[in-house]
Amino acid sequence: MRLIVVLILALFTAAAAAGDRLALVGGTLIDGNGGPPLANSVILVADKRITAVGQVGQLEIPADHRVISTEGMSVLPGLWDMHVHLMITGHADYAHWRRHYTHRLRDEIMPAAARQLLWAGVTSARDLGAPLDDILAIREAIASGDIPGPTLYVSGPFIQHRPYPGTDHYRWGVHGVDDARARVRELAEAGVDVIKLIDHDQMSEEEYLAVVEEAHAHGLPVVAHAHRPEEILRGLRAGVDNFEHTGLATAPIYPADVIEALAARTARMDLGPLYWTPTVEPLFNYVHTIRNPEHLDDPCWHQGLAEDTIEDIRASIRHPERLPYFQLTAARKPTLRPKFDQLREAGATLLIGTDSGVPLSFHCQSTWAELEVWVNHMDMDPMDTIRAATYWPARMMGVLDDVGTVEAGKYADIIAVRGDVLRFINILRDVDIVVRHGQQFR
Ligand SMILES: [Zn+2]
Repeated sequence: MRLIVVLILALFTAAAAAGDRLALVGGTLIDGNGGPPLANSVILVADKRITAVGQVGQLEIPADHRVISTEGMSVLPGLWDMHVHLMITGHADYAHWRRHYTHRLRDEIMPAAARQLLWAGVTSARDLGAPLDDILAIREAIASGDIPGPTLYVSGPFIQHRPYPGTDHYRWGVHGVDDARARVRELAEAGVDVIKLIDHDQMSEEEYLAVVEEAHAHGLPVVAHAHRPEEILRGLRAGVDNFEHTGLATAPIYPADVIEALAARTARMDLGPLYWTPTVEPLFNYVHTIRNPEHLDDPCWHQGLAEDTIEDIRASIRHPERLPYFQLTAARKPTLRPKFDQLREAGATLLIGTDSGVPLSFHCQSTWAELEVWVNHMDMDPMDTIRAATYWPARMMGVLDDVGTVEAGKYADIIAVRGDVLRFINILRDVDIVVRHGQQFR
């Protein structure tokens, strides 16, 4: 009897290690390629990957596949969030956070943020700014299946002119060209996926050019802040691959020279797309949030956090209308749409990213909210918006062969949600099914 139990356990363990064999059956598939949706879809999954995609009645479901009904649902590739910060989880006071949570990042804060992203249907995320050892450890822990979370692409520390006081564990200043190259080399050798460059309008010309050149020599794309016109102009000159944020504070629009330089870059087909992650959601929704803060009480953001951490964050955001972080936000809101339109018209390829983790911004809520703002307030087509969270991010990070769309051969990163996501994008706020690398998390 005992032997049989041991044998069954052994078989069960072997099956679990190989990943589930799944059949997602019945829903309408939006595969990420932008074509017409596929009704009554069947997606077969084995050994972490999609083995076949077809339709009910045409594609046979093998007997050893566990059937998950997606009837009545939209089925789509797992979402990407191209701008998250796992080291912060919504607390309003960064100095306080650094003092009390830096030693809790690896065991509590980052795993909690990762879990919340995956729970929200985000199966891939790009972390743009964190202590190097901590974020690499979390990326590895997720990759090896030790903790749940999205597949991570990480920059490690920001590369900038000078770190702000008390932040040099995740912000590296550069002193001259040789130092700029050495810093980038150190990150490349540690295994980061991308270089994050900020405040390069304060660097010497030689320094920021060296950062981008060294990154590209190591095959790493460069992501740069676009807060000020000179950051954009210099970034374009250096060959930055992807800009972050909408920027320019309360300026009503981008100046003509910036848009001309951007359009000249996007016209260069030989250089490939110029990517831009506008991260409009935290700014767009702030004014509404301070008047209607109920969603800040959603326990979804408590997942994985200790009781004292939850209480501390809650206390810090008790008066969201008083936070210095948002001093300019009310004045910035009306400038978001014109700038968003300028970026589109100048030919930038826009990506979904959220800055998740900044004050009031929780990893369980940010990503769908960014999609919602694009569709309902920026007049972006829902299909294009979904592709900005699936196909384009995977292409930008050079991993389109493995993820980004639902196709045979790719990793089974798939989400499903009841209802028609092309008509009602905000149903993504509560996804029903999350599968990452063939494992069902939700
Ligand atoms: Zn950020």
